[in-house]
Amino acid sequence: RIVVVGSINVDLVVTLERHPRPGETVRGRSLTVLPGGKGANQAVAAALLGGHVTMIGAVGSDEYADTGLSMLTSAGVDLRAVRRSPGTTGIAIVEVSDDGENTIVVVPGANAEATPALVDSAAETIADAAVVVAQGEVPADTTEAAMRLGSGRVILNLAPVIHLNREALLLADPLVVNEHEGALVLAQLGGREASDEQSVVEALLECGLASVVMTLGAAGALVSDGGGIIAVPAPRVDAVDSTGAGDAFVGALAVRLAEGSGLEDSVRFAVQVGAYAVQHAGAQPSYPALDDDLPLQAQ
Ligand code: ADP
Repeated sequence: RIVVVGSINVDLVVTLERHPRPGETVRGRSLTVLPGGKGANQAVAAALLGGHVTMIGAVGSDEYADTGLSMLTSAGVDLRAVRRSPGTTGIAIVEVSDDGENTIVVVPGANAEATPALVDSAAETIADAAVVVAQGEVPADTTEAAMRLGSGRVILNLAPVIHLNREALLLADPLVVNEHEGALVLAQLGGREASDEQSVVEALLECGLASVVMTLGAAGALVSDGGGIIAVPAPRVDAVDSTGAGDAFVGALAVRLAEGSGLEDSVRFAVQVGAYAVQHAGAQPSYPALDDDLPLQAQ
């Protein structure tokens, strides 16, 4: 079983010609309301790929709660450990202008109610999981508590980068970050200067992490569990919308690791799933199911 401890949001995606300046009003073109949040995205991605997934998180008491849970429900994710707390569901207001520039405002809302106490109430489920997955969109002490309870593999996708206790951070196996996040985590661990992606991965391992995966967009990913760094190229695809591709990657990684595959093989699969997701609009609606053909890895 895979347990995801993380955020559940609703994304309000507005397309517009150009972004308003402070004090200005502009006319938007369209509004799309979609389930999102990194935790929920990763849980949905894993469940669609055949994973048995339990979600631990919180939604509000408003009308957005059902939207936030809609694809988790249809993908068959176990939601018994999702709390419904008074107040608003987490919301992300995403503005996409014609030049492709995004601005995003995130209101955490009920995600702040995903507390260490909520994690403790599911302690047995977490301890029994083959894989525990956490990100940076719920309170730091919640993420730390979940990581400590895991007795299987702990995937930490520290996005956004929040400050975690060093001992908890080092439980990640693997830490999954993009280039930017990798540099921030390295600074948090007090690691050495590192200029390029490869050396950031090396330096993170030197800090005591058991394994590191760095996603590199169209270039694929780097992976290492200490014995050399392997570059895994991404399939070449026509990218339409990269929203949630990193989350599809993490969900796929969790599925393969839970099945007992090695880290490198799991990353090879995750890179294909990430490339599938960028070919389709949105986050959760862009994820493949088990019977979808995945793009083949570039040679
Ligand atoms: P994030 O959005 O979290 O920074 P990335 O942009 O690195 O994550 O993307 C995550 C994964 O999605 C990549 O490792 C790759 O597998 C896939 N991916 C992203 N962009 C592309 C692209 N343009 N072409 C092919 N695959 C992509």
